[in-house]
Amino acid sequence: MTTTSTERGTKWLMQAGLRPTRQRLALAELLVGDGQDRHVTAEMLFSSAKEKGHKVSLATVYNTLRAFCDVGLMQEVTVDGSKSYFDTNTHDHPHFFWEDDGKLTDAPSEELQIVGLPDAPNGMRIAKVDVVIRLRRE
Ligand SMILES: [Zn+2]
Repeated sequence: MTTTSTERGTKWLMQAGLRPTRQRLALAELLVGDGQDRHVTAEMLFSSAKEKGHKVSLATVYNTLRAFCDVGLMQEVTVDGSKSYFDTNTHDHPHFFWEDDGKLTDAPSEELQIVGLPDAPNGMRIAKVDVVIRLRRE
């Protein structure tokens, strides 16, 4: 039996305690419906939603992505200070940023070693280290 994108989307929302409203489910299906991890900006998800005929505003898409992050379904990766990508893979992992295409993909993490990090200032701890490897065509 194959799992439909609706079933996948519903399960994904429910596991985080989110009620699968029509709008959330439409976006969840676009994000995890095929069982693959995805990196999207709000604009990218907004155009996919429009293509599928969903009536949803860019602001709603953005707020929904934020809400998905808040409950731990996604993580936000900031690339240019202004540009946020939202990642359905919530484990710590490095990224490739393809400068020519404005695309973010997972980078292999097996060989990644982070050494020589500075100590956190007094009273602080390092919460997370983001690794974004920027790629440019030769
Ligand atoms: Zn990723």
